[in-house]
Amino acid sequence: MLNSDDVERIALEVGFDACGIARADALTDEEYPLRSWLAKGWNAGLSYMERNVDMRMDPRLLVPGARSVICCVSAYSPPSSAGGIAAYARTREYHKVIKDMLFRLRERLGIDGKLCCDTVPISDKHWAARAGLGFIGRHTLLVTPQWGTWVNLGEIVTTEECTEYPENPEPPENPGNPENPALPDFCSHCHRCVNACPNHAIAPDGPPMIDVSRCTAYYTTHHSRPIPPGHITAGYTQGCDLCQLACPHNNRRQ
Ligand code: SF4
Ligand code: SF4
Repeated sequence: MLNSDDVERIALEVGFDACGIARADALTDEEYPLRSWLAKGWNAGLSYMERNVDMRMDPRLLVPGARSVICCVSAYSPPSSAGGIAAYARTREYHKVIKDMLFRLRERLGIDGKLCCDTVPISDKHWAARAGLGFIGRHTLLVTPQWGTWVNLGEIVTTEECTEYPENPEPPENPGNPENPALPDFCSHCHRCVNACPNHAIAPDGPPMIDVSRCTAYYTTHHSRPIPPGHITAGYTQGCDLCQLACPHNNRRQ
């Protein structure tokens, strides 16, 4: 049995900025949006998203007997301006940095567990939300209370039980809705990210979804895909930050 406080303390000691632990069970609420996103073809031919959907939605299929998902956050600096290279890509290769920290965390805890950072079929942002580390915005990204969306994520899926798991946390009120600042829901009537995207990639209604075939980050990461005529990169050569820069949950932290 892992002590949740110890796990979180050691995660900070190995270099993470925050850590939470979720009980490993099925992401039932998240499955329909994922399947409907795939059915629309909004994955733009990213076939790895079509594979292992069941596993993506249930870590017990990834690690038989899994009981806990240890979710870790590594924050990075927000960009000082838009354009060029997106903020996440301006720091050291984050996959390697996070994998190293996860490895050290697993060693210090003395447990077995699968290390996950982007290359494993697991829905990292949804697990981070389940672990109480933030909420998913309309732009589909995890928004943390301390660092907004400027975070990278990594997980350890383990068969170890933990002493404590978070209840479903209440989302913070939306700071970006001047018409009704008291509205408690996270995005409420805000559409700033939707309006900030020059290519209309973000679904204005319904569950958070992005049409990847309209997203600059897709073309500037997968260089084999030619940028279609009329697509606006807004000066980005790697990734894109525009929807994050527009988000009031980020702006109140800059
Ligand atoms: S990253 Fe850029 S192109 Fe992609 S959805 Fe956000 S604003 Fe639109
Ligand atoms: S910009 Fe507004 S709608 Fe988009 S994620 Fe942030 S709060 Fe939600």
